[in-house]
Amino acid sequence: MTTRNAAELPSRGEICYTVGTLPVVGFPKDGKDHWNSMASSAVNSSAAPADPTILPRPAHSISRSQIDENTLKVLYRLHRNGYQAHLVGGSVRDLLLGRTPKDFDIGTDATPQQVKKLFRNCFLVGRRFRLAHIRFGRDQVIEVATFRRHPHPDELPEDPEEHGTFLQNQFGTPREDAFRRDFTINALFYNIADFSIVDHVGGLQDLENRRLRVIGDPGVRFAEDPVRMLRALEFSARLGFTLDPETLDAITGKAHLIAEAASARVREELLELFRHGVGAEVLQRAQSLGLLQPLMGGYQPGESTFKLLASLNQHFRTPGSVDEAMILAGLFIDRFWHKCPVQASLPINEVLLSAGHLLTPYCNHFRLAHGLRHQAREMLVGCYRFARGLGHRGQKRFLLNPETPRALEMFQLWNQANGGDPALVEIWKKALHTGHEPTEKPVRPPGRRTHHRPRRRRRSKNDLARG
Ligand code: ATP
Ligand code: MG
Repeated sequence: MTTRNAAELPSRGEICYTVGTLPVVGFPKDGKDHWNSMASSAVNSSAAPADPTILPRPAHSISRSQIDENTLKVLYRLHRNGYQAHLVGGSVRDLLLGRTPKDFDIGTDATPQQVKKLFRNCFLVGRRFRLAHIRFGRDQVIEVATFRRHPHPDELPEDPEEHGTFLQNQFGTPREDAFRRDFTINALFYNIADFSIVDHVGGLQDLENRRLRVIGDPGVRFAEDPVRMLRALEFSARLGFTLDPETLDAITGKAHLIAEAASARVREELLELFRHGVGAEVLQRAQSLGLLQPLMGGYQPGESTFKLLASLNQHFRTPGSVDEAMILAGLFIDRFWHKCPVQASLPINEVLLSAGHLLTPYCNHFRLAHGLRHQAREMLVGCYRFARGLGHRGQKRFLLNPETPRALEMFQLWNQANGGDPALVEIWKKALHTGHEPTEKPVRPPGRRTHHRPRRRRRSKNDLARG
């Protein structure tokens, strides 16, 4: 570990702090890797060294100017009123890595009711897990959570039905709170009292080594909450951190459990992957670890699915532009082509039905709104029309369909991923732009048209004369 001037900001992806050479209060004195031995047991804060690693302000790079102004106001007011107030979770991790945090979460020893008393703009939310939301203006909400702990098994209520609520609402110390978190790098605290960083779980060392490590025994923690397996793959991809073999084995061993996770939560985590540009990478890794099918209701990817999803992720790169209907269409387009090969020239009604049948089980599993399924289906059918070539009836109407522009974006991505003809995309783009049917020479895919209704011959005068 290098010693640096604390005023120097780290470059992206690099962490800037010192341990050992600068004064570090409470760092394990014998230099042994306590965290590794701890990881092999279940989460147990009492089994770990009692003293946390504390990096005083000069020994780390986080400056208050990097923290959102309203978050600072909340931290200060809690502190002034005699409560502990820490910045917690992903924001501390991201600031140490020189990244911009997505949001700033606060941990405190004040109960939700006590927080509410301090802030007029505070609302308590959550039935099972009470949280304080402090609103600033129309758009900003700062989440303040009371430190919680893992109760001892003896303390659990007799009725298993009550375990969930009980587990969520056991207030604890900052140290206990750190140990109930998922990964060591997500359990770092920034203490507003003295601007120090407090590390109870060895997260600083893991940031330095660029590795993602589960707090406690990965098998136990994944069984406790299977969504953590997906989060492990997500953070490893987002930060470029390695996952140790023990964690990978635990994912393989516990993958089936994720089928029981609440589908709304899994759906939100899946969208999060695409928001961070790691959808393709994580889903491919999930596939190799046997996590994909239980995660996505038995979903089977096609040959070029991951390639297409990677292009789709590039397409979404601008923040907030994730389009769930496009992801849905992208997940199924490979299998759609197998069901509806363009050479077969199927009637559009049949193509529409096939696309619907393909999407329905997935949409039912995730309880997706009909509107979303409709948009994805229209995109698939749109791709079919584009691939089928020009010179078909009804194109004018199709060009005016609200889903057509997105269908063309999808078609272009699919074309790129599969080495298709870019000229065809350009012709359609022009047609869409002008709102007129394409005037270029019709392009039809090779192969016999098998599903055409035989055209009825017009009756001639002779036929009429014959009666
Ligand atoms: P980002 O917001 O950048 O995606 P984050 O680390 O802040 O990353 P959140 O989903 O916002 O992730 O969660 C906030 C914190 O809550 C995490 O850093 C972690 O400490 C804790 N956490 C979230 N989900 C779990 C979980 N399933 N099990 C244990 N702790 C969790
Ligand atoms: Mg967060």
